[in-house]
Amino acid sequence: MKIRAQIGMVLNLDKCIGCHTCSVTCKNVWTNREGVEYAWFNNVETKPGTGFPRDWENQKRWNGGWRRKANGKIEPRMGAKWRILSKIFANPDLPEIDDYYEPFDFDYGILQTAPEMKAFPTARPRSKITGERMEKIERGPNWDEILGGEFAKRSADQNFEGIEKEIYGQFENTFMMYLPRLCEHCLNPTCVAACPSGAIYKREEDGIVLIDQDKCRGWRMCVSACPYKKIYYNWSSGKSEKCTFCFPRIEVGQPTVCSETCVGRIRYLGVLLYDADRIEAAASTPDEKDLYQAQLDVFLDPFDPAVIAQARADGVPEAWLEAARRSPVYKMAIDWKVAFPLHPEYRTLPMVWYVPPLSPIQNAAASGALEVDGDMPDVKSLRIPVRYLANLLTAGNEPPVVLALERMLAMRSFMRAKTVDGRIDHPIA
Ligand code: SF4
Ligand code: SF4
Repeated sequence: MKIRAQIGMVLNLDKCIGCHTCSVTCKNVWTNREGVEYAWFNNVETKPGTGFPRDWENQKRWNGGWRRKANGKIEPRMGAKWRILSKIFANPDLPEIDDYYEPFDFDYGILQTAPEMKAFPTARPRSKITGERMEKIERGPNWDEILGGEFAKRSADQNFEGIEKEIYGQFENTFMMYLPRLCEHCLNPTCVAACPSGAIYKREEDGIVLIDQDKCRGWRMCVSACPYKKIYYNWSSGKSEKCTFCFPRIEVGQPTVCSETCVGRIRYLGVLLYDADRIEAAASTPDEKDLYQAQLDVFLDPFDPAVIAQARADGVPEAWLEAARRSPVYKMAIDWKVAFPLHPEYRTLPMVWYVPPLSPIQNAAASGALEVDGDMPDVKSLRIPVRYLANLLTAGNEPPVVLALERMLAMRSFMRAKTVDGRIDHPIA
């Protein structure tokens, strides 16, 4: 057994209002520079939807579509925009700039310089890469946001088949949720494994994954290898960049920028203790549906005296042991099991955990609609299908998601019973 400490994050999706404050504050701090205009270390996606970059979850497309384009069927591009793609033939499994979006600014100058006319002048978008006026904006970092009827149909097409497709394709049955995303600071990071220059490393002391800018040679194998597509190539510096988990802030005891500025207060930071010797076995668990449990089995109980003694022997500092005992991430992800990893089937053991949205209405629980014994849950009472959440968070394993939803319903019922302005809002059954 070799014990290490890992900093992680839990995001309670029930509380995310999709305001994008986290993304904008992160951008202002980390990617407000030439070369990474298109990059969002933190982005918020509307789900179901195509995501950012487009179709990042469709790993088939990643190995098929993007490669096929690079094999010569792509239309040649000219000018400054081409510089972003200039090395694509060395490494074909890459999203292109249009899979993210062409960054733009508005042509505000026209507001001062336009000649006198009847209508107020319009500040049209102008490409930040080519400098040219854009007739229309083709795509943005959350292009799928709340697209109504079209969104309902597309999400049903993408996520369901047969009768389910018909049901969820009807407007009144459509559903949506927000999914804020950042680098997962994985326990088994494919970006580290893929880098030919040895430029990416996972810090021993807290597990934060960083890119050494002096060593990076711009191969972009990390961009291909990261299944979450959370590494971005800086076309100006010729180096790759990624979320740093705001390590300069973490080192002085401050939260990440996205956590501190989150309007919904959905983010929790905390330390986990894990056994580094169990990572390989967990990542190579044969059955995908066992991967969530295999990931849990890597972590250790920070209250167990034997674990504490071994952690001290392995050099984990006392402050981190104390942080592990007070960790909300340990409570929610490991102890209470209400927070889940995103797409554990990617086998990188991601360290950003999600509490699923408490989508079923209270009556659904009372009427037993949370049961998933049948082919599908009752769509009239379940707003977001359990199957969809399970595909997102447990590689299709539904019972742990149902258990988490039931626990949260019970907790909500309990808290409401005792705390609404001193009055009983909803009696405990
Ligand atoms: Fe690396 Fe991607 Fe995992 Fe981040 S999410 S540590 S970039 S593999
Ligand atoms: Fe969601 Fe918080 Fe980001 Fe707003 S700031 S989109 S509530 S995670």
